[in-house]
Amino acid sequence: MKEAQASNGKEGQHQHDLTTVHFLEQKDGVPYELEQVRCADCQEIVDEAKHRLVA
Ligand SMILES: [Zn+2]
Repeated sequence: MKEAQASNGKEGQHQHDLTTVHFLEQKDGVPYELEQVRCADCQEIVDEAKHRLVA
């Protein structure tokens, strides 16, 4: 029986090259700023925060 490997061919252990990206989102007419901390190398999102923009 084969074992189910979560990641095959992609190294799971490496030093993430973290970069922060910002998005603007609108929900129910309210603008939000979405902040994502992700790895520039493997694109994994390691942190995410949503900030409500105050007019
Ligand atoms: Zn990474």
